This record gives sequence, structure tokens and C-alpha cells, in this order.
Amino acid sequence: MQERLAALGLGRIADKLDAGKRLSLEDGVRLFECPDLLALGWLANREREKRHGGRTYYNFNIRLEATNVCVASCLFCSFARIKPGDPGSYTMTLEQTWDKLRERAHQPLTEIHVVNGLHPDLPFEYYTEMLRGFKRIRPGIHLKCFTAVEIAFFADLYEMTDAQVLRELQAAGLDSLPGGGAEIFAERVRRKICHDKCGTERYLEIHKTAHRLGMRSNVTMLYGHIETKEERVDHMLRARALQDETGGFQAFIPLAFHPDNNQMRKLPGPSATETLRVHAVSRLMLDNIPHVKAFWIATGVEVAQLALWFGVDDLDGTVQEEKIYHMAGARTPEAMTTSAIRRLIRIAGREPVERDTLYNVVTGPEAPDEVAALVQ
Ligand code: SF4
Repeated sequence: MQERLAALGLGRIADKLDAGKRLSLEDGVRLFECPDLLALGWLANREREKRHGGRTYYNFNIRLEATNVCVASCLFCSFARIKPGDPGSYTMTLEQTWDKLRERAHQPLTEIHVVNGLHPDLPFEYYTEMLRGFKRIRPGIHLKCFTAVEIAFFADLYEMTDAQVLRELQAAGLDSLPGGGAEIFAERVRRKICHDKCGTERYLEIHKTAHRLGMRSNVTMLYGHIETKEERVDHMLRARALQDETGGFQAFIPLAFHPDNNQMRKLPGPSATETLRVHAVSRLMLDNIPHVKAFWIATGVEVAQLALWFGVDDLDGTVQEEKIYHMAGARTPEAMTTSAIRRLIRIAGREPVERDTLYNVVTGPEAPDEVAALVQ
């Protein structure tokens, strides 16, 4: 492999990785330009296995989008409706949000993941009460709710600082932030695809504040639309720089752009090979973020399985209901059982580990499952 890497012009990058040195913007661009996807995967897999061996994490979660009413106009979004009452718009009552958890009283869920549109008319108490209600119904559940974009919107709408919003939500039960809303940090791209929502500096500042308040979070990257290779690597480097300061990011999550039913529908969306390449380069660039996640809803199940050999060590969770990607044309299932996730990880040649949101092990690879029984 050393000769193959040298012939591809990746010898110096491989040496840096061997020496535990971090990669530069130029290195990242070179990796994106590498024509040999398997060599790139080999490098990324080596970094993955240094950290996690064959372990592949997933969690038992549900996803909830309480409203799709949103005042922003992101061109890639197929989920949002501008006003309450517009065709296809919805806003759940608090009872309806809590019912989603009550209905699953028999399931050993560990997390609820909530993201919403930016609704202009709901009171702040809608969100704080939602959290309190979830904790009343199931005190041990981890609440991973509201992107940095939502936090910024709440602060502007309710005339609070970002830190005040975070503190009040934390007091109501918020445990961590999801990574959505990062899109691509480069200004050129943001101006074109999401000009009227929270910008890069504020997104990163909100995560920094959340980390300082003791919360963990994730960071995403929307790829496969108008961004350049340089802008992807720049995005990773900005996430890496904040991680150097706070250490609060748990996972980096590349999110594939899906073109159906939105204003960027003329673009094709990323290919499977591009998806593998983005996840591999993420693992190689982000030496300080522990996990790289393939969100199987967005990548497709089979590509997510392949990605487990291209730097990925996490497949998100059972999800159970998903609207944002399915309204954009995703043809993946909306839910998977834990045994289906364990099976697909095992079939891909990796070891399934159920984790909670903070990566504490819930069920290790040694737990019996159908595929393990078959391959013994
Ligand atoms: S991506 Fe989020 S902020 Fe942008 S329009 Fe859709 S729901 Fe609103």
C-alpha cells in the first residue's frame, strides 16, 4: 500500500498520519482529488480502527419534528412551509409531542432528537414545556434538541441572548444540541443557499457556549450541491478549530444533499462514491473529533454499510420517523429496529455497539444477535 500511496502523491500525507500530525487545507483538497477511492478508504479506515477498532455505534432513539413552519428560505429545504395554514404545514400540540414518547413506553429508548422549522408565532414556553413534559414522562431520557439555528432564532424572537436561551432550555431538561444547520460554513455558499438564517460565526459561538455550559453537541456538513472541495475542507477545519478550544463535539456528520421538492432540484445530488469520499476525508481531517457518523437515512442503508470501511464508526439510530429527508426524496426506510441495525453492521463485517447519546455502552458487541449466531 505504501507504494500505491506514493504513486498517488499521498505518501507525505500518509507519513503525517503515521506521525500523528494533523492535515492541512492543501492535504484535504489533495485527498478529495485522489482518483483511487480504495486507497483513500484504506487511509481513513486505518484512522477509524486506531480509535474504535471494528466497533460501530448506534443508538435507540426517536426523531421528532414538531413543526415545519419556518420563516427562513434555505434553497435545499423540502421540509419547510412559510406560514401556518399553508398546504402541507403542521404544528404539533404539546400533547401530540408527548404522545410520541408515551406511545413508546414499552421501548428502551435512550434519546429524543428534536429539530423544527423556525416558527414565528409560538411562545418560548412551547419549547420549555415540551422538554419538561418529556422528562416528566421519562426522566432518564436524553433530550438532544434544537439546532444552533433554532437557538439563534429563539434569542432574536424572544429578545434574549443566545446564552440565556441555552440556560433556560437546559433548566427545562435540554441535555445536548444536534449538529444541524451548519450546511457549509463558507460565506459564498451560505449567501446563495441559506442567506437568511444564523451565520457561521454565530453557529460556532452557540456550540461553544453550549459546550461551556456542560453540554455536548455534534456538527454537520451538507455536501453534494454547489460547494467546492476547498469549501468542504475549510468547513472541517473550522469545526476542528472549535474542537481544539472546547472538546465538546462528539461526532461529525456529513449530510448528503437530496434534490427532490426544493429549489435546487436541478442539481443531481452526490453519488455513492462521493459520499464515501466525503466521509473518508472527514475522518482524516478531524483528528480531534472522536466519531464520524453516516446518517443512514441520507446516505442509503447500503452506502452506510460501505462507509463503515471508509472512516465511519457510527450509524445514528433507529430514528423511527423522519420527515426532512423523506420530503426531499429519500427512499430509505423511516425507521429501523435495533436488531436490523445490528444485523446490517454485522453483515458489513463490523461489531455493533448500542450507545447512549454520550457514547456510554448500552449493549456491547458480545450481545447475541441473529447474524452472530449464523456466522459462528
Ligand atoms: S433548513 Fe431549517 S431553517 Fe432552513 S428553511 Fe428548512 S427548516 Fe427552515
